[in-house]
Amino acid sequence: MKRLPYFCLGKVVRGFGRCSKQLGIPTANFPEQVIPDLSPGIYYGWASVGNGDVHKMVLSIGWNPCYKNTKKKSVETYIIHIFKEDFYGEIPSIVSTGYIRPEKNFSSVDALISIIQDNIEEAKRQQDLPEHMKLKKDNFFHIPENKIMNGH
Ligand code: ADP
Ligand code: MG
Repeated sequence: MKRLPYFCLGKVVRGFGRCSKQLGIPTANFPEQVIPDLSPGIYYGWASVGNGDVHKMVLSIGWNPCYKNTKKKSVETYIIHIFKEDFYGEIPSIVSTGYIRPEKNFSSVDALISIIQDNIEEAKRQQDLPEHMKLKKDNFFHIPENKIMNGH
């Protein structure tokens, strides 16, 4: 597996539109090629949208978005923050700092929601550790204004 932390930028695209918001957990989907080097599974890390504040996030890389399998690999992140608006087309900066678990199949939506909630709690705890906290302040999240690509 590629070593963590793993930094990348990815454009938010439309996902499958069939699970996240309905479950109360919207996930910003990225094109598959954004994270070519990480093994499938659930990660935690930091994310910043529009060069704004850096928030904790959970990242899922895998073949089972929501509870239905698909032939297409999905890369999606739930950012632990309440956004006023959707941000399709933005290019968030994300860094994966740690690995939580491999991907799994779920027999029910309730089981899925419950494990996602556990993963979110784990991400919150982990990101408070000093070794992860220091990545929040990484220069990667503070791109000079003339280098910002999407006008924000
Ligand atoms: P899709 O199937 O198109 O990915 P979702 O139901 O997963 O639809 O919703 C994802 C969208 O919700 C994101 O692309 C983003 O614009 C928006 N969104 C709002 N709040 C968040 C959040 N906290 N984390 C991730 N995406 C969010
Ligand atoms: Mg999504």
